[in-house]
Amino acid sequence: MKNLTELFKENEGKRAIGSFNVHCLEMLPAMIEGAKELNVPIIIQTSPGTAEYIGLDLLVSSIQTLSERNNADVCLHMDHCTDIEVIKQAIDTGYTSVMYDGSSLPLEENIKNTKEVVAYAKERNVSVEGEVGSIGGAEDGVVVSEEDAIYTDPKDAYQFVQETNVDAIAVAIGTTHGLYKSKAKLNFELLEELSKNLTNAGLVLHGGTGVSETDMRKCVALGMKKVNVGTELNKSYIDNVNSAFSQATPLTSLRKLFIPANQHIKEIVKEKSELFQLV
Ligand SMILES: [Zn+2]
Repeated sequence: MKNLTELFKENEGKRAIGSFNVHCLEMLPAMIEGAKELNVPIIIQTSPGTAEYIGLDLLVSSIQTLSERNNADVCLHMDHCTDIEVIKQAIDTGYTSVMYDGSSLPLEENIKNTKEVVAYAKERNVSVEGEVGSIGGAEDGVVVSEEDAIYTDPKDAYQFVQETNVDAIAVAIGTTHGLYKSKAKLNFELLEELSKNLTNAGLVLHGGTGVSETDMRKCVALGMKKVNVGTELNKSYIDNVNSAFSQATPLTSLRKLFIPANQHIKEIVKEKSELFQLV
């Protein structure tokens, strides 16, 4: 298993790395197989809620098994965690990367807490993603509109990266978590400026579900290093199990009901990873 810094270095000039939210253990093998079929690395990320549901130890051991079985580059990342104790537990259990989200706090407090996480993580070869200025929306499939989008203040971002020494930073350039009613309007000038000045920390795109393919390619070309994909996997899984289970009887083989849903997860991972390629 690898951390973000290793993946950023190995993939410089080649691609942004897809970071996919695992929502249940059932879909996990398909995610890593999808990346393997394209021979690209994959970041598997968990919300603190999913991590609690599946269990940190089970996630770590499953991903170790699957990365060895497929001989794939896999990073296990904790997404949007506001609890430093949970982050330390994840690191101690074997996560290779964590995100401390202090974006709802005043900047000084966010910096102070992020520094504490970085100090703990770096000693253990674990990478840290931070966030300045909230990206907005919600993780669980909420419908949002363009007016909800907000933008990272470059000055805050530079100060944050310089003082915390994070490996990656979530930036808001017009995307919002959840399902967009229409396509997002992105601020590419801001992205260029951030990318030019934040050379020590990889830029992370959150809330990419509403971004068009053309805009996504532009984001990667302009320097996004990690792109999160969450809502789309959640939605696809529910659509597929809804249609499979609606025709099932108690005598139907349960596993057969999950196979189409898993297959679609693999397809999304492959489609997105293809989109994030630079060459
Ligand atoms: Zn996010």
